[in-house]
Amino acid sequence: MGIDTIGIIGAGTMGNGIAQVCATSGLSVVMVDISDAAVQKGLATIQGSLDRLLKKEKISAADKDAALARIRPSTRYEDLQGAQLVVEAATENLELKIKILRQLDQLLAPEVIVATNTSSISITQLAAVTGRAERFIGMHFFNPVPVMALVEIIRGLQTSDATHDAVRELALRLGKTPITVKNSPGFVVNRILVPMINEAFFVLAEGLASPEDIDAGMKLGCNHPIGPLALADMIGLDVCLAVMNVYFAEFNDSKYRPCPLLKEMVAAGYLGRKTGRGVYTYA
Ligand code: NAD
Repeated sequence: MGIDTIGIIGAGTMGNGIAQVCATSGLSVVMVDISDAAVQKGLATIQGSLDRLLKKEKISAADKDAALARIRPSTRYEDLQGAQLVVEAATENLELKIKILRQLDQLLAPEVIVATNTSSISITQLAAVTGRAERFIGMHFFNPVPVMALVEIIRGLQTSDATHDAVRELALRLGKTPITVKNSPGFVVNRILVPMINEAFFVLAEGLASPEDIDAGMKLGCNHPIGPLALADMIGLDVCLAVMNVYFAEFNDSKYRPCPLLKEMVAAGYLGRKTGRGVYTYA
């Protein structure tokens, strides 16, 4: 089955980014959110992003107009019916995602592939609640979607080879580099990244070096574009702690023990950039 129309559930940070890359890659897009305001906000973000690309001469005015014309914003799930693949990028909440997947099952033809952009929910568990477990898969884009090259393609236990191959081909068509991952907490990138950040907090707590020196060490010694503590401030210390707690519980392995300093800072409300104070202080 060729894919020419993509449905996207959610017009938030990830949904509008995915809609943009699909549209600039020549696909028709139906972007659905729960309110007109949410859909219009998503559309405005895409417009702003395309305007920046135009200013940098990365796309032409005609490309921009054509991409925008390919996006159909909607608040009605029925409008997804012409899509060959639907990407679920709604709020990260298990009950909500189950509800959405059941709704999609009733609307979409059995051959339609459904992918989820979840960061933390088990693909195998979500597949089990759909009536299309073989045609269900994880398609984990990175933020900001138009900039980040990677897509993790996560196979649930039930995902078929044909579904995997179709989604991998789609990722390539979007100009992304896919990697294939078996379902497991954190998939690949976050499984490695967040424990590294946690370890940086242990190093800080042990007084081995200052925050600035820890970050400089990892930037200059590992060629990372940003140090782990500055990155924790960007992600949110609460998010990092929640992720470590999931690994600790799911793997039942002390190597995922959240650093006590990280817990203490979250308890104090030092969550990073979003609260003006994390490891560093922000004006
Ligand atoms: P967001 O809060 O920016 O957007 C979520 C959108 O979903 C909102 O616009 C909300 O109105 C909409 N929504 C809620 N219920 C809905 C429903 N029933 N039907 C349609 N739309 C609905 O969240 P986000 O950051 O875009 O995250 C979306 C998904 O992507 C989550 O599963 C998250 O784990 C994952 N993710 C996020 C990032 C990131 O850095 N933000 C990175 C990778 C993956």
